[in-house]
Amino acid sequence: MKKFDVTIVGLGPAGGTLANLLAMHDLSILILDREKSFYPLPRAVHFDDEIMRVFQTIGITKEFLKHTIINKGTKFVNSKDKVILDWPRPKKITANGWYPSYRFHQPDLEKKLRKKLKNYKKVLIEQNSEVIKIKNSKNHVDITYLNINNHKEYLVRSKYVIGCDGANSITRKQMKTKMDNLGFTQKWAVVDLILKKKKNNLPDRTIQYSNPKQPATYCRNVGRRRRWEFAIKKNHSDKKVLSENYIWHFLKPWLNKSDAIIERKTIYTFESAIARKWRKGRVFIAGDAAHLMPPFMGQGMCAGIRDASNLAWKIANCIRNKFNETLLNTYQSERSLNVKEYIETTMRMGEFVNAVESIQITDNIKSDNKGIKSMQSIKPKLGKGLGNLKDRNRGKTFPQFKLKNNKTLDDYFSKKGMIILSSDIKSKTSKNDSILKAKNLSEVSRYLKNINSKAILVRPDRFILASARSNKDVGVLFKKYSSILR
Ligand SMILES: Cc1cc2nc3c(=O)[nH]c(=O)nc-3n(C[C@H](O)[C@H](O)[C@H](O)COP(=O)(O)OP(=O)(O)OC[C@H]3O[C@@H](n4cnc5c(N)ncnc54)[C@H](O)[C@@H]3O)c2cc1C
Repeated sequence: MKKFDVTIVGLGPAGGTLANLLAMHDLSILILDREKSFYPLPRAVHFDDEIMRVFQTIGITKEFLKHTIINKGTKFVNSKDKVILDWPRPKKITANGWYPSYRFHQPDLEKKLRKKLKNYKKVLIEQNSEVIKIKNSKNHVDITYLNINNHKEYLVRSKYVIGCDGANSITRKQMKTKMDNLGFTQKWAVVDLILKKKKNNLPDRTIQYSNPKQPATYCRNVGRRRRWEFAIKKNHSDKKVLSENYIWHFLKPWLNKSDAIIERKTIYTFESAIARKWRKGRVFIAGDAAHLMPPFMGQGMCAGIRDASNLAWKIANCIRNKFNETLLNTYQSERSLNVKEYIETTMRMGEFVNAVESIQITDNIKSDNKGIKSMQSIKPKLGKGLGNLKDRNRGKTFPQFKLKNNKTLDDYFSKKGMIILSSDIKSKTSKNDSILKAKNLSEVSRYLKNINSKAILVRPDRFILASARSNKDVGVLFKKYSSILR
């Protein structure tokens, strides 16, 4: 029987990101996907700065950046085309070291994730392989899959299994956990078009049409790609809505048939749900397998990539340092609170687009002197897990600092995480990848001072795990948490 450190079920964006992050730790990884190749048509079209930083860690940004555009933000307009809410995404580099928001074409990302995986000798990708059974044991997991080409069943064994197998996850079913419906269920049509020629009268921003007659969304995607989504009226059949006549009639205010070709038209039921358990023994779920949200904020895939970023280094640490129950339990507790805030905010946004204008999408809404309201992006915290909740720096994003040589501190970041010491802490350990002295890095020193810390421990996913205010606390920090860095 073939044996692996980790088996990943499903090679969508969550599985592809997780596989890359795990492969960086030199683990043997089997990825099973039932499809022949990646899904070639558009789905996700937006991601944010935090996600771009994960792509940077994997090492795909240089090539992938060419396939993205910076997103300028979203406007919500009413049925009279009056702006009722603005959500600008200023072209300003954030603490994560990237712009707040990007547009992309999902197949471009999936190609880059797969291409990068080819660099790792210990990664095996098996397409046409449908997982049918997962058996959890104390020291390993057995996975049975069906080869769709030759109809034979295969059995493999691995230390851990992660189901990144989407909304109808077989892994979740095998874990016998349920999805809790959080309350938003609505049928929408999604139409992706490619413009034949540049069309300058189409908006550069995303527009949410809060029109009670037909709530709709327009997305300015990469190149000549544009998307319209609209809620399906109760008395309209799916067949009618997807007919050419219906679609071109709907598009009349913006486009004629001669302006664009339809790349894809489909109907989705937008849902909001979260799985009760994200882990059973050595089996985990991540991405759409663990949570679903409507696409109004463009955060569904992003949430799956955050899952991968949270889980990968913990699994790698457990394989390096043997099984550790507590560390792996922090995956769901840290991630579920964060994703729930995205789901709930997205649901409120959905209701706002459904023209329930009294809905307050976030607490962070201000009015300018013309009375136009604007909102800011949310950045939900990690739930409780590693570190002390009383530590005010715990869970903060460690900024990506620029260095003098045109590189950033992230370029030198240890994949195990790092302790960063202020200049007045004397440490004998001079040659250790995981310990950095801020002595010659003035911006980092200033940052430590601003957050009132003599030392911080930054996790591999760039969140601060712990901070120390005094020399004595520095000793405690090393004693309590440095095993993470082993
Ligand atoms: C219209 C629309 C717009 C969206 N826009 C955005 C956006 O702008 N930004 C954003 O962040 N998100 C967006 N999303 C959400 C995003 O597309 C999903 O969250 C994301 O694709 C989920 O990724 P995943 O890797 O978890 O699952 P998936 O992409 O669904 O991948 C699951 C994989 O598992 C495989 N699989 C399933 N079962 C098995 C099995 N038994 N054995 C082997 N393999 C299996 C499948 O073949 C597939 O490759 C949007 C979604 C929709 C529908």
